[in-house]
Amino acid sequence: MPLERLDAHALVNECCWCGKRPRPNREHFALSGVARDEVDLSPYEGAGIRIPLETQTRRVDAIVPTATAPARREGYNVIFVLCSRACGAALRDALRKEILLGQLLREVADEAT
Ligand SMILES: [Zn+2]
Repeated sequence: MPLERLDAHALVNECCWCGKRPRPNREHFALSGVARDEVDLSPYEGAGIRIPLETQTRRVDAIVPTATAPARREGYNVIFVLCSRACGAALRDALRKEILLGQLLREVADEAT
């Protein structure tokens, strides 16, 4: 599955679900996911990827952390940047449906933190 490669710096300042810019002095949230074993994300480490969703008329952008990032030590290799827990919950629910159908992710965290 070919993925569009994006600049990660642009992604850290925008909610991947609603598109809002989180306010600079407000807390950011992130939802973590795990790609399927057969998906090789190594060419995208340190960059972003654009994920088309089959169940939604939208796509979401995610960051692929580098091999030394804390998320990787916890077993996650896809990070979604969000403006709020509410956007995190909406994305999680959409991705969980997508996991059943999708080709990219096999797991997504319970809550944006
Ligand atoms: Zn949002």
